[in-house]
Amino acid sequence: MTENKKVKKSKLTRNIFIALISAIVLGLLLQSQSEFLNLYIKPIGDIFLNLIKFIVTPIVFFSIIGGIVSMRDIKKVGEVGVFTIIYYFFTTAFAIVIGLGFGNIFKGIFPVIGTSNLEFEVQDKVSFMDTIVNIFPKNFLAPMYEANMLQIIVGAIIVGFSILVIDKLKQEKAIGAVEILNEIFMKAMELILRLSPIGVFCLLIPVIAENGPMIIGSLASVLLVAYLAYLVHGLVVYSFTIKTLGHLNPIEFFKGMLPAIMFAFSSASSVGTLPINMKCCEEMGANKDVTSFVLPLGATINMDGTAIYQGVCAIFIASCYGIDLTLGQMVSIVLTATLASIGTAGVPGSGMIMLAMVLQSVNLPVEGIALVAGIDRIFDMGRTTLNITGDATAAIINSNRLRKKER
Ligand code: ASP
Repeated sequence: MTENKKVKKSKLTRNIFIALISAIVLGLLLQSQSEFLNLYIKPIGDIFLNLIKFIVTPIVFFSIIGGIVSMRDIKKVGEVGVFTIIYYFFTTAFAIVIGLGFGNIFKGIFPVIGTSNLEFEVQDKVSFMDTIVNIFPKNFLAPMYEANMLQIIVGAIIVGFSILVIDKLKQEKAIGAVEILNEIFMKAMELILRLSPIGVFCLLIPVIAENGPMIIGSLASVLLVAYLAYLVHGLVVYSFTIKTLGHLNPIEFFKGMLPAIMFAFSSASSVGTLPINMKCCEEMGANKDVTSFVLPLGATINMDGTAIYQGVCAIFIASCYGIDLTLGQMVSIVLTATLASIGTAGVPGSGMIMLAMVLQSVNLPVEGIALVAGIDRIFDMGRTTLNITGDATAAIINSNRLRKKER
């Protein structure tokens, strides 16, 4: 990394950090002004998020094609893809076990909250088969228009592979075109990212002002358990995989990830954090082709934080209703939550919708979600942070494997 780039990056990290801390402090001080903050400050954050959403679809589409074509070898792409999916699958399953484990250990401290009068309407009942069918786009443009990441990824993989099998001369031209488009959108992204301190501040301050009293209130225990489990998974599991499979010092890793971590915490969107996550991983030495393939995939299908949240909340809701989960039910939760993670979109709040599917799978009352819905955003900030950190570990580990093979 050049000195100039390093200085720029540490300045951005510092500015995001200042924005984050001032939003928390001011948010707590301005709790009585939450209406004003929602009316006038949140829209500025929304403008920033709109810009991120605008740039993220072309970035995912072209960077995945770019990642595939620059490996120039279908076998290599397939190998990275298969390893990544298996890694994502196992870490997510592990995360949900941690979530259930922590939920069970700390069950005793969960408060007894009245469960009568609870109402929660399940909006999208998504079956497992629907989730699979919906991965495949039936229209070329609709996935972009609807920002359906999974479909964009499938479309990009098909186009990327097709480029690799056309005539060599045309292939070179196509690769050149993809590279130029990639560069243009990356530049646009960089410009938008410069606004991230303002975005972080404006997104976070209304959330803190609105949720402050509830964080301190009766739901503190379940929040605490979820955050404890997030932390353990992040610090223990990722440190282990990053050290053993990625050959990177975990402290260096978390330090390098700081801008993305702070951004994910404030925005609660894995997809929104994707551009800054790519930047962080590349600055830590991850291979650009790998990052551009592994991270968009992760932001779409890999949700370790969401899995933990679902485990903890399932136990919490069951315990509020005085239900004890059997071992069989917990195994069911592990399976459903791991699969639900694929269908969870990397946008704020989607993990809570998927919680309905997890509860239904073991016949727990879905209305129980109403118990935690009021503070979902606070759960979401932590789970998104963990989600994107997990994606980044896969980028570093795959890059390390590739480096070793090329030696
Ligand atoms: N907000 C999370 C994410 O973007 C998904 C969720 O709601 O769990 O990763």
